[in-house]
Amino acid sequence: MNAPIAIIGTGIAGLSAAQALHAAGHDVELFDKSRGSGGRMASKRSDAGSLDLGAQYFTARDRRFVEVVQQWQNRGWAETWAPELYNSQAGQLSPSPDEQVRWVGAPRMSAISRALLGALPVHFSCRITEVFRGGSHWSLQDADGNSHGPFSHVIVATPAPQASALLACAPKLAGVAASVVMEPTWAVALAFDTPLDTRVEGCFIQDSPLDWVARNRSKPGRDNHPDTWVLHASSAWSRQHLDLAKETVIEHLHGAFAELIGCAVPAPSFTLAHRWLYARPAQAHQWGALADADLGLYACGDWCLSGRVEGAWLSGQDAARRLLEHLA
Ligand code: FAD
Ligand code: NAD
Repeated sequence: MNAPIAIIGTGIAGLSAAQALHAAGHDVELFDKSRGSGGRMASKRSDAGSLDLGAQYFTARDRRFVEVVQQWQNRGWAETWAPELYNSQAGQLSPSPDEQVRWVGAPRMSAISRALLGALPVHFSCRITEVFRGGSHWSLQDADGNSHGPFSHVIVATPAPQASALLACAPKLAGVAASVVMEPTWAVALAFDTPLDTRVEGCFIQDSPLDWVARNRSKPGRDNHPDTWVLHASSAWSRQHLDLAKETVIEHLHGAFAELIGCAVPAPSFTLAHRWLYARPAQAHQWGALADADLGLYACGDWCLSGRVEGAWLSGQDAARRLLEHLA
């Protein structure tokens, strides 16, 4: 019997690779340090309902991704989201409608990763600290001192800074991953018992600590009450305020939100802050995925292409394709 393929990371890149390999008849085994799947596409359950704190929506431009998103829609995992979009520049709020089709997981972003994972074998709350090759097979070591394996191949599907250490067996790949700079994002959620008196449902922002705000209830399948908003700080502001206490971040971003939204903003009934340390690659790349095919070690993630959901999914497909081509 062939040993399974290990996949480290159950974000959309790892799940994309897992689906492709499973569909080709290979056994996969997934690992994630978090308690659930989705990575930066996950949703957080809170006292104010489910909140999409990471990816807000996604667009599909590559034909392969357009096709798969269509399938997700047919299965009820994804729906289009057509918010009343605004732009805020130099403190001036103005409507900014466009024709772009935008997608969200339904009824929450994590619906997609949950469905893609399905019944595939997975170890959650399992942080992999080392990937090593013994004889003809791979083994993984986790932070609790357990080892896992044997595996025929390993796909590392984590953000680049976390991937470089796991790729130590292939110094070339580790070096490429180590060269990728990833920017942080502070995310804040605010809930209001009385809905805000505004038409804004999504807003692109310049000249502010914030670069994006979204009204949760405007997305399909979300609760209507309370009126929850997700605020994202810009990369620059997040980098400069990386180690600020969560309460202080909430205070700052709540203030910036009240300044730009153009209506009275009462004290929120619920607040939450989350720091994404590796939110987005500082620049896009054209790598597809990284591979040392002779060794059987691969890396994928949004940082190999564009720092978007589509880029991450395509990168996972590329890692799987290269692995399958090498086997053939
Ligand atoms: P991830 O989703 O980061 O998955 C990596 C997984 O690896 C995680 O689950 C992590 O827990 C796990 N992991 C890491 N290290 C280890 C380890 N040592 N052992 C085990 N597991 C490990 N994209 C869009 O297209 N549209 C948007 O609107 C958008 N907004 C965003 C807003 C924010 C705040 C953030 C943070 C991202 C946003 N993105 C957006 C980007 C998008 O979320 C990512 O491009 C995409 O989700 C990345 O997927 P991935 O699988 O490459 O990585
Ligand atoms: P998209 O086409 O909607 O947006 C791309 C960019 O175009 C936006 O960032 C915005 O600057 C501009 N834009 C688009 N429509 C606009 C409008 N109607 N009015 C004004 N400006 C508009 O989506 P995409 O290309 O799939 O990009 C994904 C989104 O995810 C981007 O907004 C990106 O900033 C965001 N993102 C955020 C993080 C983070 O950490 N905060 C990480 C990755 C991606």
